[in-house]
Amino acid sequence: MLRIAVQNKGRLNEQSLQLLRESGITIKEEKRKFLMRAPDFPVELLFLRDDDIPQTVAMGAADLGIVGYNEVAERGCDVQVLQKLGFGGCRISLAIPKGERYTGVEYFNGKCVATSYPNVLNRFFAGKGIKANVHTITGSVEIAPAAGLADGIFDIVSSGGTLISNGLVEVEQVLQSEAVLIGTPGLEEEKMSIVRQLMSRFESIRTGYGKKYLVLNIPQSALDEAVKILPAMRSPTVIPLAQSGWCSLQTVVDEVQLWDVIEQLKGIGAEGILVLALEKIVL
Ligand code: ATP
Ligand code: MG
Repeated sequence: MLRIAVQNKGRLNEQSLQLLRESGITIKEEKRKFLMRAPDFPVELLFLRDDDIPQTVAMGAADLGIVGYNEVAERGCDVQVLQKLGFGGCRISLAIPKGERYTGVEYFNGKCVATSYPNVLNRFFAGKGIKANVHTITGSVEIAPAAGLADGIFDIVSSGGTLISNGLVEVEQVLQSEAVLIGTPGLEEEKMSIVRQLMSRFESIRTGYGKKYLVLNIPQSALDEAVKILPAMRSPTVIPLAQSGWCSLQTVVDEVQLWDVIEQLKGIGAEGILVLALEKIVL
């Protein structure tokens, strides 16, 4: 039996549970408790605040955890980062009030910076030889400069909207983060074999993120050109159609390239273009 710590509520909760669900580990949410056994996989889930996940895994009270890398970096616990999970992307950045003249990281010498990530920030400043006053506060860090509590902040940024609405400008991106799978160091082989199985399922799901399955009809004469346009895992599947001179093409496309690829294919005579959702890619 493997115990996995996940966030009990908050930003990573839903996507963590969805990843587990898609990997065959279902938890009936309506009956959710602190600790729950999955009916269909030798796993139980422990629901915690994200702050507590790294330490719980370091102590071995949970074998695995799903948590933001930012928390792992801040807590400095002895855990193994086993896998990046491809969601919960954000960065921890330094920001200062709009209108201040930023001259580079030396700007922070002698300044007071509010943050919930004092360890990450102190390491960064030490590495750059900056002597600043790091002021630890939990919650609503972004209001500290306007409230006169600090000259700048060091906080999580994803879209940047919170900074803008508080009159702040991001000046240094210090740490990139996303949700990661962490594990207790030195797990026994019996548990590691379940971990490896889970990680390969996670990888399949992650590879499918942001990908679509494309099916289209194309005149035989335009086939070579279509193959050049299409990025495929190996090469696209080509199936002849009942109508002579035509064939059907099937392939996987990155969502970001999708519209561009579709326009190009239409330009060489593609018809009946279907874009289908893609759940997993098993490599
Ligand atoms: P808890 O109650 O579990 O302590 P929390 O309030 O500390 O939750 P959340 O706001 O739920 O944390 O965020 C959880 C994680 O989501 C963060 O640690 C970070 O890894 C990730 N994340 C992604 N984007 C953002 C964002 N825009 N703001 C905050 N966290 C983000
Ligand atoms: Mg927290």
